[in-house]
Amino acid sequence: MRPSPRQVARSATAAAAVAVLAILAACSAAPRAPQPQPPSGPGYRLTEWAPSSSFVVRVHPSAGSLTDEVMAAAAEVTARSGITFVLGPPAPTPAPDLVGSTPEITVVVGTYCSAGAIGCAEMWGQWGFTPEERHVIRDVRLSVVPAMLDDAATRRAVLLHELGHAVGLDHHSETFEGQHQVMNPYVEPTMSQYRSGDDAGLAATGTRARPATDPAAALLQLFGATPPAARRLP
Ligand SMILES: [Zn+2]
Repeated sequence: MRPSPRQVARSATAAAAVAVLAILAACSAAPRAPQPQPPSGPGYRLTEWAPSSSFVVRVHPSAGSLTDEVMAAAAEVTARSGITFVLGPPAPTPAPDLVGSTPEITVVVGTYCSAGAIGCAEMWGQWGFTPEERHVIRDVRLSVVPAMLDDAATRRAVLLHELGHAVGLDHHSETFEGQHQVMNPYVEPTMSQYRSGDDAGLAATGTRARPATDPAAALLQLFGATPPAARRLP
């Protein structure tokens, strides 16, 4: 785990359990086009991508022991956002296959995150990652690093945090109503439940969820009648 200024400020005991989370958006280096501004509000920030209204969760055998915890955390997301999760068959590979039209979250345990991170959510799309296309993310890989498997409280916090990313929440570093939010980049084992800013963010992202099987509709929803990416749609 990577030391951070915040960790330095904490007690040694707390610092040992605090680690950085990372979000990896597989974006191209293409110059940014004018974008709809992702809405934010007190206590939360949203990312640029429109979440699916439902996901199939596919747990890779490396993360099989986490299945119940993943679905329990997912239920917390559903309760706040309306975005639903259904447990599907195990993932045969540790990477989303982008086969078929169903948005999937592939859950893996492994060293797929950037150095120092204990978990990450990577967004996978089917058309590439032009600025427009980045708004329509289909599959997500949710990774937890093996070192975190021993601590249930941290696992819970990591799963809540990464699922927040999966449905479109960005990091929110500031305190809100006196607390760090689960979407703070630095997870704490006491984050066993979403906090007030997270709750508001999940409600907000739920309102812009797109039909699970219709990414084209998501582009229309985001850009209006003449979406800039329309030329690229199959
Ligand atoms: Zn994060």
